[in-house]
Amino acid sequence: ESYLAHDARYDSMTYNRSGKSGVQLPALSIGLWHNFGFVDDINNGRAILRTAFDLGITHFDLANNYGPPAGSAEKNFGTIFKQDFKSYRDELFIATKAGYGMWPGPYGDFGSRKYLISSLDQSLKRMGLDYVDIFYHHRPDPDTPLEETMGALADIVRQGKALYVGISNYQPAETEKAAKMLKSMNVPFILHQASYSMFNRWVENGLLDTLQNNGLGCIAFSPLAQGMLTDKYLKGIPKDSRAGGDSVFLNANTVNNHIEKIQKLNTLAQERGHKLSQMAIAWILRQQQVASVLIGASSANQLKENAKALNCLEFSDTELKLIDKIIS
Ligand code: NDP
Repeated sequence: ESYLAHDARYDSMTYNRSGKSGVQLPALSIGLWHNFGFVDDINNGRAILRTAFDLGITHFDLANNYGPPAGSAEKNFGTIFKQDFKSYRDELFIATKAGYGMWPGPYGDFGSRKYLISSLDQSLKRMGLDYVDIFYHHRPDPDTPLEETMGALADIVRQGKALYVGISNYQPAETEKAAKMLKSMNVPFILHQASYSMFNRWVENGLLDTLQNNGLGCIAFSPLAQGMLTDKYLKGIPKDSRAGGDSVFLNANTVNNHIEKIQKLNTLAQERGHKLSQMAIAWILRQQQVASVLIGASSANQLKENAKALNCLEFSDTELKLIDKIIS
């Protein structure tokens, strides 16, 4: 049936400014890396996106290669967007990216101007959009001059194909350089997309300071460590989980290596009266540079549960120290 967004969708979400920009992002954003490919059920994807928007989650994160197969998440998103979200376009902040391998030959990977510009054109077609709100370079390219990659981002904005730009997976020093270049070209660079979770704290080692110094925001991906920071693996590995399937990104070994920490964190979350997933999300939002926590969900119910993280944002010093001890 046709979709009418919830009237109260803006009542309980928090919106945080991305760095010193004019853009406010929902404290929680939804990513389409998994669960939106042609291999997945599009009606489940539709339910996830409807639930997200009803919760005030205005930011949808895609990339050229999401699926599988690569490109199919954008294609499915385009189908859902056309049917459900077209009239809400100006209430949505939609992202896509290029930087990982997308098509064969020398022009379908990394960071050349040739790749970025043609990839975004393909993405816009797949999604049925005239422009994206933010376009990211998905990962640093050691062999292309940064000037060329940043120049491509600048021209993409000038062509009206993206309103803002971002980078992802860049180290602090290259982030600093990128920021200087984009500033000198007057390009609205607002966001760095970085992995960050209780099991992966690399951003605390310089990146968050660099973002602060440059007036940039952070959007934290895989905040639940792909599902490990939830209660789903406490009693073994469910068949229908990311680690239980044939994902190359998370396997049973990785889960088993973390299980003791997961159990201890889960106990602490229970003592706080919340779910581990909610505590893991809240723990990231304690960082002022983090404008948004970018979660994934394989069901609308997971998303509803995770959104309740906004009700448990406070941590005592004792709790923070205990978490440090558990995860160290
Ligand atoms: P998460 O760490 O949030 O993991 C999401 C997965 O955890 C879900 O798909 C689900 O997996 C499980 N899960 C979520 N909530 C619950 C819950 N309440 N209870 C039990 N299980 C739960 O993030 P992702 O790794 O999915 O990444 C999020 C987004 O970040 C991506 O979609 C993408 O947009 C972005 N990203 C960006 C990258 C980059 O290089 N820039 C790289 C990776 C991600 P299941 O039920 O299937 O087990």
